[in-house]
Amino acid sequence: MTLTEKILARAAGKAQVQAGENVWVQADILMTHDVCGPGTIGVFKREFGKNARVWDRNKIVIIPDHYIFTADSKSNRNVDILREFVNEQALEYFYDVLDDPNGRWVFDAKQGQLKRQYGANFAGVCHTALPQKGHTRPGEVLFGTDSHTCMAGAFNEFATGIGNTDAGFVMGTGKLLLKVPETMHFRLEGKLRPGLMAKDVILHCIGEIGFDGATYRAMQFDGPALSHLSMDDRMTIANMAIEAGGKNGIFEFDAQTQAYVDYRCKLNGTKATYEPVERDHDEKFVSELVVDLSKLEPVVACHPDPGQRKLAKDLNHIGLDRAYIGSCTGGKTSDFLDFARVIRGRRVVIDTFGVPATPEIVRDLQAARWGDKTVWQILVEAGVQMTENASCAACLGGPTDTFGRMNTPMKCISATNRNFPGRMGHKESQVFLASPMTVAASAITGKITDPREFLS
Ligand code: SF4
Repeated sequence: MTLTEKILARAAGKAQVQAGENVWVQADILMTHDVCGPGTIGVFKREFGKNARVWDRNKIVIIPDHYIFTADSKSNRNVDILREFVNEQALEYFYDVLDDPNGRWVFDAKQGQLKRQYGANFAGVCHTALPQKGHTRPGEVLFGTDSHTCMAGAFNEFATGIGNTDAGFVMGTGKLLLKVPETMHFRLEGKLRPGLMAKDVILHCIGEIGFDGATYRAMQFDGPALSHLSMDDRMTIANMAIEAGGKNGIFEFDAQTQAYVDYRCKLNGTKATYEPVERDHDEKFVSELVVDLSKLEPVVACHPDPGQRKLAKDLNHIGLDRAYIGSCTGGKTSDFLDFARVIRGRRVVIDTFGVPATPEIVRDLQAARWGDKTVWQILVEAGVQMTENASCAACLGGPTDTFGRMNTPMKCISATNRNFPGRMGHKESQVFLASPMTVAASAITGKITDPREFLS
């Protein structure tokens, strides 16, 4: 069996499963957020009754993160609905924007977008917060009401996005009926050269198979290159499995996975036991692709979908209005450090927005010192508009006052993960997906630029 099949067999209580088989799977974690949480709660109450209790109060993780730092009252209200449900059900894991469990969330637009407006429990973007807060464990099944839940596959678990109806059912029963996906094999070899990042790896893979090339399939990543890919790198790659239509992305377990998970579970006091899955000799794949990382070049996924891969160096004629670094995919500490390596000592010439994915990443960047300045200061002095309000921000457009949102038609290069029309705001805008280093180089020149031009 493949890694995905092994996890699903275990979660279904079976010795063996095959691709195409429908099985009832036991969930380990259900995650939801402010956009889908209220709908999920509504389905749960409608189907199980007003006084029903969730299947396990320790296995539901609620993370407001999407439309948080906006004066839109309906969006603010969604966070309150989550808080009321958490209080009613005595849920263990709720990463509220506020410290007051009986409070009401109102974003204060008068304070502006840059200064933090959250309490001590706020965790930021759900997919980056889940591992940081010790909720991703090898061998487990994670369901989330968000398509990029597949990011947790970096930790050798089966993680997939589900809709509100399915999530309402999982909330009540802890189970879900799933068709076992076929597995596509991506064997990663070699080592990335300077100027290349994990984002280039996944954009390359999606470019090879198309933005629907993995529809309802597992994308398994393994091979000797893994020893050169950090957990942040693996998260970037697994995150974008859905951009090829994948049901999930999954990585082999190794010492790095173990070190990360053990540290985070201990730090947060979450469940510290788990059982990884290892590769079998008789895995059956529906396709095989070998990717030599040492041969890749910086790439960009052009408007209007993540499969429109082109070499960054061939797109120098495309002028830009905006650059954006942030999101679960591209707003991690390592993403900002690589971005800053290109930016350092230079100035951006177009509007450039920086949105760290989590408050922990804000702290990392404000603590990391290069010479006599912090990385945060270096970016701000280069002209990058850095916000402390870690969230999804303009990755998903959001209400019109969302930080970095494109409210008029423009061209933006972005370290995010999705670029269908309207994704970051205005329907006639164009989003070019790229690595944080390529975004940095392009912000400096105002046109799509290969970052190797700026590396000594
Ligand atoms: S940062 Fe973007 S991709 Fe990630 S969860 Fe938020 S909206 Fe979705």
